[in-house]
Amino acid sequence: MRVVVLRLGHRPERDKRITTHVGLVARAFGAEEMLLAGRDDKLVGGLEDVAERWGGDFRVRSEVSWKREARLWKESGGRIVHLTMYGTPLSKSIEEIRRSEAVMVVVGAEKVPPEIYEMADWNVGVGNQPHSEVAALAVFLDRLWVGEELDREFKGKIEVVPSPRYKTVIERRGEDEG
Ligand code: SAM
Repeated sequence: MRVVVLRLGHRPERDKRITTHVGLVARAFGAEEMLLAGRDDKLVGGLEDVAERWGGDFRVRSEVSWKREARLWKESGGRIVHLTMYGTPLSKSIEEIRRSEAVMVVVGAEKVPPEIYEMADWNVGVGNQPHSEVAALAVFLDRLWVGEELDREFKGKIEVVPSPRYKTVIERRGEDEG
């Protein structure tokens, strides 16, 4: 299944850290791309740097028109899941969502444009309490992949060797670095 994350409402002066975390969670939990409805070159550069060093094929595309992306996604057969505290329980729709070939997961910052509720195939609440787009995204993706995303290999230049006690990291040099 293809999964992309659409981040709405990014305000560079306020949301730098949380949008970075949305991107990090998207990548680490199995999404192939984050679409950013806004511009923040430093943030995009930071996420690209992580993807370059830690491996995988994760991409970030900024300054997208969210309406256009959502429309194109649906026209090509993709489905849209909007994560919102006002939505229906995750447990009610996750099995149906899992049968999709391509899923765009939409998360907001402050208030999302009302049209997204109409465009979404599912408006899903990760519980109905207010919390965070980072938490909502992580829980959603983990339920979507039933935990298997945590065992994916990224084959990066940097890799952690899991250890019960120490910080052990392997760093691979590029071929041209000798
Ligand atoms: N009052 C805002 C609203 O109208 O949605 C809440 C914004 S919240 C700080 C930012 C984002 O976190 C939301 O757009 C949504 O994507 C996500 N979020 C927060 N709580 C959630 C929940 N219980 N379930 C699903 N998503 C949630």
